[in-house]
Amino acid sequence: MLHFVYSIINFLILAAILVVFGRKAVLSIFRGRRERIGKALDEAEETASRTVSLPEIPEAFSDIVPESAKVEAEAIRAAAEAEVLASQKRTEDTSLSLRREMLADARSRLIDRIVARAAELTAEEPYQSAIRAKEADYAAEIIRRMEITPGDVAYLRHHDQLYVTLTSAHPLPQSIVDAIGARAEAMLSEIGGKPSYWVKEDPSLIGGFRFRVGDTVYDFTVADRLYQLRRDLEGRELRGDEDADALIRDLFEGIASMDGGISEFQLGRVLSVSDGICWMDGLADIMYGEVVEFEGGERGMVLDIESDRIGCVIYGRYERVESGTKVRRVGQIASVPVGESLLGRVVDPLGAALDGKGRIFASERRPIECPAPSIPDRAAVSRPMHTGIRAIDALVPIGKGQRELIIGDRQTGKTSIAVDAIINQKGTGTVCIYVAIGQKDSTVMEIRDRLTKYGAMDYTTIVCAPASASASFQYIAPFAGAAMAEYFMHEGRDALIVYDDLSKHAVAYRELSLLLGRPSGREAYPGDVFYLHARLLERAAQLSPENGGGSVTALPIIETQAGDISAYIPTNVISITDGQIFLDADLFNEGQRPAVNVGLSVSRVGSAAQTKLMKQVSSRLRMDLAQYRELAGFTQFGSDVDAATRRVLESGRRMMAALRQRRFDPLPDWKQALLIFAVSEGLADGVAVEDMEDFGEKLAERLEAKHPRETAWLLAGGKLSNEERGDLRAALEECLSEAGETEAA
Ligand code: ATP
Ligand code: MG
Repeated sequence: MLHFVYSIINFLILAAILVVFGRKAVLSIFRGRRERIGKALDEAEETASRTVSLPEIPEAFSDIVPESAKVEAEAIRAAAEAEVLASQKRTEDTSLSLRREMLADARSRLIDRIVARAAELTAEEPYQSAIRAKEADYAAEIIRRMEITPGDVAYLRHHDQLYVTLTSAHPLPQSIVDAIGARAEAMLSEIGGKPSYWVKEDPSLIGGFRFRVGDTVYDFTVADRLYQLRRDLEGRELRGDEDADALIRDLFEGIASMDGGISEFQLGRVLSVSDGICWMDGLADIMYGEVVEFEGGERGMVLDIESDRIGCVIYGRYERVESGTKVRRVGQIASVPVGESLLGRVVDPLGAALDGKGRIFASERRPIECPAPSIPDRAAVSRPMHTGIRAIDALVPIGKGQRELIIGDRQTGKTSIAVDAIINQKGTGTVCIYVAIGQKDSTVMEIRDRLTKYGAMDYTTIVCAPASASASFQYIAPFAGAAMAEYFMHEGRDALIVYDDLSKHAVAYRELSLLLGRPSGREAYPGDVFYLHARLLERAAQLSPENGGGSVTALPIIETQAGDISAYIPTNVISITDGQIFLDADLFNEGQRPAVNVGLSVSRVGSAAQTKLMKQVSSRLRMDLAQYRELAGFTQFGSDVDAATRRVLESGRRMMAALRQRRFDPLPDWKQALLIFAVSEGLADGVAVEDMEDFGEKLAERLEAKHPRETAWLLAGGKLSNEERGDLRAALEECLSEAGETEAA
């Protein structure tokens, strides 16, 4: 017993020792960690404080708010005016766009006022002292950051000195000027050059200073900060329904959330401007396709790089760019927002909303020019892309990942086919992009309304570069659309993209090229217009299963003049695509709509995606139609034909009638096959040409109700054996005789 007590006491002593010393050890471990974390945090804070930023812009904006009341009144009046104007014209869309324009006007006046007021406040004390107190820090930061770019090295190869400029709002202390100069000299001598050092004063900078080596600028000025402020405020997109209060609140929020700091960028200068094109110098390291920004906030894209100048297209309002305007690199390749949030929207080629439904929040962007998927990344076209149009699905079938050209004269129903194809994608999970190039605004709005009416807008984006848009907008529109479609393809989904139309796109590109002074070739188009369309259409693809199996199907549209498909642009695009749907103006005028010319239309890969059943019924149709065309050509002038010929002509006419179809009435595959089967079996002989469509619809209805076995065959889409054909024919005859009886009754 005593033994037991001793052992307990021993145990307790041991435990006490462990607790006292162990706790110390554990604590020391934790303390060590805490110290280390603390040190790391301190260090991080130190580096953060080493990146110098400008003093905050004073928040004394309260005294401009009464002023803004005026603006507010103006904005509301403007919107009201727009409303009245619109009600006179009775178009809702004009109302929205006018309202938006007026609000945008009022807003830009308000931004002017805010920026001007900020400039006044920063030009005064105490801001000026605050900024002077930081000058030494800025100089140290410049010395730390200063770099020689490849562009500078290239420049030095041809010149022995590089321009280095220090511009400040006020005279700087000599020590700062010398320190920066010495650093530049040391750096340039390393690569065998020397600086030509200029020190300037420019009161318009308001405060701080700007240092420029070659084309690179390190900017610590208040003027730049205000510029960023303006850009930030202007970048906030307008919603059409915004009222003046919300607008002002939004702008003030913009000021509050603006971050300070300095900017580093490459600078250039506009040499000359003409018709939306400008030539610039400077910008040493610029790349093809890069985005630049002009002083006034306009943006452009580099399209030409020569040894001593850079050619660029200007997006939007180019009247504000003039020779001498400063340009800066933005540091990005031209790109557009992509993703789910663009569906249901009408956007311009830069991805900005045009439908007054507010800003589009896209989480991702894709470059507008993007290499097409490589050969190993692709798979053969094997899945059908139904358009719901009999004449196409039966005779020129399109597969997912195919490029099928729609070609024809003006007003032959080209757009209608594309729109029907989009409508037919409802419920298939296929996303659609309709790119309108050089079309009337009213046409695009009509298409949007149609798509909305048939519930197709939910999965569709319209990219719109109307006829009134600049050539540069029209030029990038299809590329922007392609980028949006590619996003879905890489997500493993299917996309259908319509380019309406590439003739106008070629014209826009010709305009740009001629303005850029490139030599013109056939029909004055530039030599690379083939490459332009080839690289666009190559981006349509069916990806292999390892790459997600997504696809982009492209339906480019080309307008011909008087049916001439051998002109330059049509032949180019015909040779790039995997087939064409040729629409015939004569057929169209005869009432054969859609006016697909069966003889001149082909689909080179799509038949692989057709169901066996459709292949079976349509091959017979194709032969019969060829025979009919031949005979019809011969017998056009003669009235005296023998009975056999008359029979062929009669059934041919009926078959052509079976290919007629109303707009906005896409048909599922099995119903198409059914009608074609019925017609080629002679079951529709008694049907008048104009009743053909209803006949097909009624037949399908009856078959579905009474003969589930035969319907199932059609739905399965497999090849029919002779026996099955006989059964199907019998079933159809039964349906027809029943129909006859009910009608007689
Ligand atoms: P544009 O050259 O002006 O772009 P387009 O070739 O795109 O013309 P659409 O605008 O599609 O032609 O159609 C021209 C006209 O033909 C429209 O008024 C349209 O309603 C009519 N149309 C097109 N397809 C059909 C059809 N299947 N049935 C009846 N009318 C049709
Ligand atoms: Mg059209």
